[in-house]
Amino acid sequence: MVNKLYLVTPRGFCAGVEMAIKALHWLLKIYDETIYCYHEIVHNKWIVKEFEKNNVIFVEDPSEIPEGSIVMLSAHGTAPNVEEQFNSISSVTINSVCPLVTKVHHEAKKFTSSNTQIIYVGHKDHDEAKGALGVSPDNMHLVEDINDVKSLDIGDNVALLAQTTLALSEWEPIMEFSKDKFSNLKMPRKSDLCYATTNRQEAILAILPKVESVVVVGSENSSNTKALVSMVQNKGVSANRVDNVRDLENINLKGTVAVTAGASAPDHIVYEIIEKINPSSLEYFELKQEVEYFPLPQQLRKNIRLISDFLNNFNDSENNPDTTLGISNDKEWTATEALNSL
Ligand code: SF4
Repeated sequence: MVNKLYLVTPRGFCAGVEMAIKALHWLLKIYDETIYCYHEIVHNKWIVKEFEKNNVIFVEDPSEIPEGSIVMLSAHGTAPNVEEQFNSISSVTINSVCPLVTKVHHEAKKFTSSNTQIIYVGHKDHDEAKGALGVSPDNMHLVEDINDVKSLDIGDNVALLAQTTLALSEWEPIMEFSKDKFSNLKMPRKSDLCYATTNRQEAILAILPKVESVVVVGSENSSNTKALVSMVQNKGVSANRVDNVRDLENINLKGTVAVTAGASAPDHIVYEIIEKINPSSLEYFELKQEVEYFPLPQQLRKNIRLISDFLNNFNDSENNPDTTLGISNDKEWTATEALNSL
């Protein structure tokens, strides 16, 4: 029996996930054909299934797409050579990489151009790490823990970069150890760990003293979701990741519980889970509000405008004043609404 449930904010969709979902929705809207998406658009099972039901095929390699197809590259970032391969096969490729992942790619290019060796802290099999390491494969060294850093023999002209979705508890010990090992260690001025990852972790840490356990909503391959779970467990508090209501079946929740969600988890699943838990009381805990907004990819906006101009040549534009098919209102329109309208 759960007496009290705290629903934590910030949780769920970040600005990068919002942008990527809306971008894929736009591709479906303007091209009446199958869209091929490199990697899962975001790491959430439910969202991937919804897009699959609506004529999106997710692929893991450019060889899987037919000549002349329409392609979207996922929010996690794509290695430059892979993007080139997609460009050479597709008729249109839209890159919906999150700008905060692009920032890490830029840093990798900058350090490589000054012959600096790069330590990249990340998870070996994660899409984001694969994309980032592809920026400079000969110069970048993936590390997952302190032992990996210990075994590096790469001189002293070294920089440290990170996957955006690491747990603070994963990142900080590796950063401190690397600073000790490499006396001239270079780092970006602003942390690579993104605002959404950090905010969700800080919010759950703030409520932790009041709860006996935590439920984190999100899919198994969502790195920031797993980071939330491990942060909580490292503090000695029980934490369970659930993708949907069914995952609650084997979990015995009691007392006071907090619920949060990774950056790619839809909020309707959070509310289904709360309904299933059926707490005696529900309290909202908001650490801070997020106002970040990332515009749709530039190439997509350009394509929408071209199509819209073409259509407006056949329409009475005075009676149809929105000449951009609604794209000018993108900031007011949410990924949840995009998913609902699929
Ligand atoms: S979790 Fe961070 S890096 Fe990843 S898409 Fe969201 S804002 Fe971008």
